[in-house]
Amino acid sequence: MEGKLCIFSGPSGAGKSTLVRHLLGLDLGLAFSISATSRRPRKGEKHGREYYFITLEEFQAKINCDEFIEWEEVYPGRYYGTLKCELDRIWEKGQHAIFDIDVQGGLNLKKGFGQNALSMFVMPPSLQVLEERLRARGTDQPDSLRRRLEKAEWEMRYAPYFDKILVNDQLDSALKEAESMVKNFLDQ
Ligand code: ADP
Ligand code: 5GP
Repeated sequence: MEGKLCIFSGPSGAGKSTLVRHLLGLDLGLAFSISATSRRPRKGEKHGREYYFITLEEFQAKINCDEFIEWEEVYPGRYYGTLKCELDRIWEKGQHAIFDIDVQGGLNLKKGFGQNALSMFVMPPSLQVLEERLRARGTDQPDSLRRRLEKAEWEMRYAPYFDKILVNDQLDSALKEAESMVKNFLDQ
């Protein structure tokens, strides 16, 4: 059976993983699409849970063997992608896939899966708030933080190409709104 795709995209720090984590905790039949990445695990991250952590060489080999539905060099030298076998794994269990994915990846998935996919752009209330949240998250070195903020400005321009825009200002309302968008889509 082919399930559906719930896609959360937007700048780093916008709140994608917070929203996705919340939805995974509800009984909606969703399973997280675990991406492959060539970046190193952060403290507390586990292979096969947040990501499949692989080397750059392994990533390249998988590109060459056409194993990805989509992949992007999200930051210089850091590759991220969705493996075809990952969607098969989720759909074989009779579940729907939920994605935390960069803007280009989200648009590519939507293009490939059409009505079977709901693409949602998570928008921070402002770039200033985004910066504050990224700093408070404390997972990035100054260099990486700067790269994420520079990219964010450019990513925001793609918001109108998504099915829905979700402004993540007050967390409670954003969680409720995400819940309602996803429920409506899965009920269709
Ligand atoms: P992303 O997955 O898009 O990179 P996160 O979900 O990690 O973003 O959120 C970035 C940081 O902002 C986290 O520390 C998270 O707890 C916090 N955060 C998310 N949403 C809100 C919100 N509405 N108000 C305040 N802080 C938030
Ligand atoms: P992080 O390093 O913070 O985990 O993720 C960096 C960025 O990569 C985020 O914007 C995240 O959404 C994106 N990302 C994660 N997995 C994928 C994927 O499979 N494909 C693409 N295109 N982007 C991804």
